[in-house]
Amino acid sequence: MSECLFCSIAAGEIPSSKVYEDDVCFAFNDIAPQAPTHFLVIPKAHIGSVSEVTADNSGVVAHIFEVISKLAKEQGLESYRIVSNIGEQAGQSVFHLHFHVLSGRDMTWPPG
Ligand code: C5P
Repeated sequence: MSECLFCSIAAGEIPSSKVYEDDVCFAFNDIAPQAPTHFLVIPKAHIGSVSEVTADNSGVVAHIFEVISKLAKEQGLESYRIVSNIGEQAGQSVFHLHFHVLSGRDMTWPPG
């Protein structure tokens, strides 16, 4: 099994509440939801965070945003927030790129 938790989840080695999967990415409901809808979309290939996105792998990120748009439409989400934390001070706790998709409640700005 991979040492990376989200690599293991994407590979199906650790169970998750799967929302979507294709060759490039995997989406699953967050284990500690912060909103009525809260799922994560991750690349299957390991990328540590947005800080490791380059010209060589940015197509994966573009694909993930297409998937988020598709899933949001399918789930009838009219308003939602996408969050990606980069680094511990910003709140990143799992060091495999992931985009939080949150919806279903009023949200404040700036985020805490
Ligand atoms: O942005 P951050 O790195 O803190 O987000 C990691 C997210 O992964 C958290 O929201 C946490 O609840 C979620 N998680 C999960 N399943 C796990 C471990 C963490 O959904 N097994």
